Amino acid sequence: MEVFRYSQAKSVEGAVRSNGTFIAGGTTLVDLMKLNVLRPTTVVDINLLPLDKIEPEPNGGLRIGALVRNSDLAWNATVKEKYTVLSEALLSGASPQLRNMATTGGNLLQKTRCYYYRDTNYACNKRDPGSGCSALDGFNRIHAVLGGSKACVAVHPSDMAVAMMALEATVHTNGPKGERAIALNDFYLVPGDTPQHENVLAPGEMITHVTLPALPSGTRSHYLKLRDRAQYEFALASAAVVVKVSGGRIERARIALGGVGTKPWRSHEAERALEGQSANEDTFRKAADAAMAEAKPLKFNGFKIELAKRGLVRALKTTTESA
Ligand SMILES: Cc1cc2nc3c(=O)[nH]c(=O)nc-3n(C[C@H](O)[C@H](O)[C@H](O)COP(=O)(O)OP(=O)(O)OC[C@H]3O[C@@H](n4cnc5c(N)ncnc54)[C@H](O)[C@@H]3O)c2cc1C
Repeated sequence: MEVFRYSQAKSVEGAVRSNGTFIAGGTTLVDLMKLNVLRPTTVVDINLLPLDKIEPEPNGGLRIGALVRNSDLAWNATVKEKYTVLSEALLSGASPQLRNMATTGGNLLQKTRCYYYRDTNYACNKRDPGSGCSALDGFNRIHAVLGGSKACVAVHPSDMAVAMMALEATVHTNGPKGERAIALNDFYLVPGDTPQHENVLAPGEMITHVTLPALPSGTRSHYLKLRDRAQYEFALASAAVVVKVSGGRIERARIALGGVGTKPWRSHEAERALEGQSANEDTFRKAADAAMAEAKPLKFNGFKIELAKRGLVRALKTTTESA
């Protein structure tokens, strides 16, 4: 295995041309290399590239460099005040030490925590296409109830990505074919027959930054994460809620769910059930039912459906209280 550093890559374009696997904080990649799950031939260290700034956008939005550490993003004053859901999602993830290493780009591209993906003794179509899926008939308590297929039911584990989904973030990249901007909503793929393809990035394409649009004034947001223990645990279900309420009515709603989908799950169904309605528990429950209407339980994870609904209702209550 070869390791390139910035001094060799010199620029984003140089790193992209090297056509290797990028390493940022290394908190996903190194673990999986030790487990023999990922075996890159060339690793390109991008840590010295100038992609570590959080800057205001001229239109009032925010630009977040791919190498901004999760801690720096979570504690940024603008993020805490205007994009509370993002700060809360980041602080609910991992541990302080990990958040000091983990980056924005790496977090979006972190790999599933499916036990069978991480253990090479088991069949896994995501790790080894065509080998089968041990989770389908295995212990599938943590697995997806939305977006799964006969080839894969692994959950996308990121909290940050769920918040960014509800904030309608855009991912900016630089790759062999130049630069492009991809709505986060179009960035992730459901597994279908090809679970090894998790997103629309081309080989060698690098995330350079993420942008968040300005939110309408009066918008409130919140992230609620439900898990087996209070800290240092991945979500069984989570809800990212971005809403504006005027005169007791929900004017605008953006909803995303974590822990239940094969990708960070934007729920347009819940948004439709909320917008224009009174901000009360009855409306919230209808939105939660709509969000989970297509959910398909496996043998051990049926509890996630009600858990996700209750989580969304509680997140909406918290966000709209006294609005
Ligand atoms: C014990 C533990 C607990 C955790 N708990 C949580 C949790 O509760 N919630 C949560 O959301 N996360 C959790 N995480 C995951 C953690 O957030 C991720 O490991 C981290 O965000 C990945 O970022 P990184 O910079 O270290 O990525 P790396 O490991 O450096 O990279 C991850 C992947 O992204 C690619 N990559 C990195 N940067 C770029 C780029 N700019 N462009 C293109 N490709 C790139 C790499 O090639 C690699 O495939 C946990 C991790 C651990 C180890």
